Amino acid sequence: MALREEQILRYSRQILLREVGGRGQEKLLAGGVRLKATGTAGLTAAAYVAAGGTAVEAGPESLVPGAEGFLVKADEVGRPGPEVLARVLPDVNADALPARGTGRLAELPAAWDGEGPWVALGGDGTRGVVVFRGTTGCPGCFEATTAGLGAPPSGALGVGLGALGALILQRLLLGMEPVLGARGWDAPGMLTDLPVRRCGRCG
Ligand SMILES: [Zn+2]
Repeated sequence: MALREEQILRYSRQILLREVGGRGQEKLLAGGVRLKATGTAGLTAAAYVAAGGTAVEAGPESLVPGAEGFLVKADEVGRPGPEVLARVLPDVNADALPARGTGRLAELPAAWDGEGPWVALGGDGTRGVVVFRGTTGCPGCFEATTAGLGAPPSGALGVGLGALGALILQRLLLGMEPVLGARGWDAPGMLTDLPVRRCGRCG
């Protein structure tokens, strides 16, 4: 997919970043995620992913308190996600529609399918956690690593976690992350690499 002139203007900042470049921007535009998120972390991630040119397709869930932020106004809490996103995404970035790609971006708990990449936003009670899998990563190890994690934090910690999740998703689309990984997001924005748990088959 070649970039149109208006897209080169819109994405000029990230195209200039040596790591993304024109080819990288084409990869971000070709990718897409199905979103399963109703709160702060997931909708913040969706806003960044959409702003970067990657497609976002909402799951059927209704938005919960905490969803309001970059994408969603307070009076839209309680409404179905697809209805709200169909209205607000074209204002963020028309390239975030229509749905395409095989990615998944979800707040835990969640079920996982499709080729990937997969990005899970969760929490362990003291910090936010992002677990991620590229298209060639083992699904069993991904699910073993998400096991035991709960819903992602809300508030400022959730906003930071969502931005981190979006960045990791973009880096997976660009081939800049390992095929399996986990990162912790601690209160003042401290980032830590967490171990990947191996599934029964990988031992
Ligand atoms: Zn495995």
